[in-house]
Amino acid sequence: MIAQKTVQDYIRTIPDFPHEGIMFRDVTTLFQDPRGFRLAVDQLLSPFVGETIDAVAGLEARGFILGGAVAHQLSKGFVPVRKKGKLPAATIEQAYTLEYGEAVVEIHDDAVQPGDKVLIVDDLLATGGTAEAGIKLIERLGAEVIGCAFVIDLPDLGGRTKVEAMGVPVHAICVYE
Ligand code: AMP
Repeated sequence: MIAQKTVQDYIRTIPDFPHEGIMFRDVTTLFQDPRGFRLAVDQLLSPFVGETIDAVAGLEARGFILGGAVAHQLSKGFVPVRKKGKLPAATIEQAYTLEYGEAVVEIHDDAVQPGDKVLIVDDLLATGGTAEAGIKLIERLGAEVIGCAFVIDLPDLGGRTKVEAMGVPVHAICVYE
């Protein structure tokens, strides 16, 4: 019997992109495969089956592709957490630290309601800075982040520890040491 491919088998690694020394985990090869994409969406959701989820928030940009599919699967709405300057209506913003400098993400101030239970989705958890900013935005609107779901975790970069320290459970399908 031929073993079925796992989610990790569909992910491509590109060394030295976008900078020397970075192993870029390319999920486009996962997204472009019909079986791989469905498997990833199903496995992102699996620990949260049976939990109340009112909305799915995706982190720009690959979190939009995954989060949209997850929201559709749950028959819930989708909320984009975007880089500063892209959302057209009233927003709140949150700065976070990058390797070099700072970035700012935004959410529409009416995107979630107080008390909503929100699942955050992205492709990859590295330092956790992006996820932390997303959690803060949703919490500032009075909603609760019931979990963060990623395709990939890079545990050496500390993101899981950072997000879990905020009281938010982390789920990742694959771990790259
Ligand atoms: P961080 O805020 O450090 O957790 O970084 C997470 C964000 O950066 C995610 O949205 C990823 O898409 C992207 N990212 C960071 N490191 C990598 C990597 N090695 N390969 C692909 N994407 C990455």
